[in-house]
Amino acid sequence: MGAIPLRPVMGAPSTPCIFCDIAAHRAEAHIVYEDETTMAFLDIFPFTDGHTLVIPKRHVDRLTDLQESEYQPMLRTLSTICRRVERLSSDYNIGVNQGPFAGQIVFHLHFHLIPRYGPGNPFLERGRVRLDESAAVGIRQKLASG
Ligand code: 5GP
Ligand code: ZN
Repeated sequence: MGAIPLRPVMGAPSTPCIFCDIAAHRAEAHIVYEDETTMAFLDIFPFTDGHTLVIPKRHVDRLTDLQESEYQPMLRTLSTICRRVERLSSDYNIGVNQGPFAGQIVFHLHFHLIPRYGPGNPFLERGRVRLDESAAVGIRQKLASG
């Protein structure tokens, strides 16, 4: 008998996906929120302190790949994390990069929540620094509850 052809699993990416690994707890991240279908964790190269990513656990490349039944849980988690980010600053950006020309480098849908602390523009600054582990613990404590 020949080899059984592998069938793609619904929602699984064709190549390894770091956010799928984080969602499945196979890769580490500073997780601030998790439920059955969504998750939020700190960005590893934050634009500002508290830069958080909100994802659906199911792998989809883009917002338009979500099923309508996934809209409500996604938006609920996004709102929950917005309220928590407001503990850090009332001002923040919410962003989604769709496609490489728009700056998407991880092809698993994610919403960026980027707190803004003053008039400076973090997007114009060069050289994002890797998340400092001890700072991350403090930020996570502020964002992980409630
Ligand atoms: P994109 O440019 O695709 O919208 O953003 C991807 C984001 O994911 C970037 O801000 C990048 O710093 C973050 N990122 C990439 N790899 C990892 C990772 O392994 N862990 C975490 N926590 N964030 C990551
Ligand atoms: Zn994925």
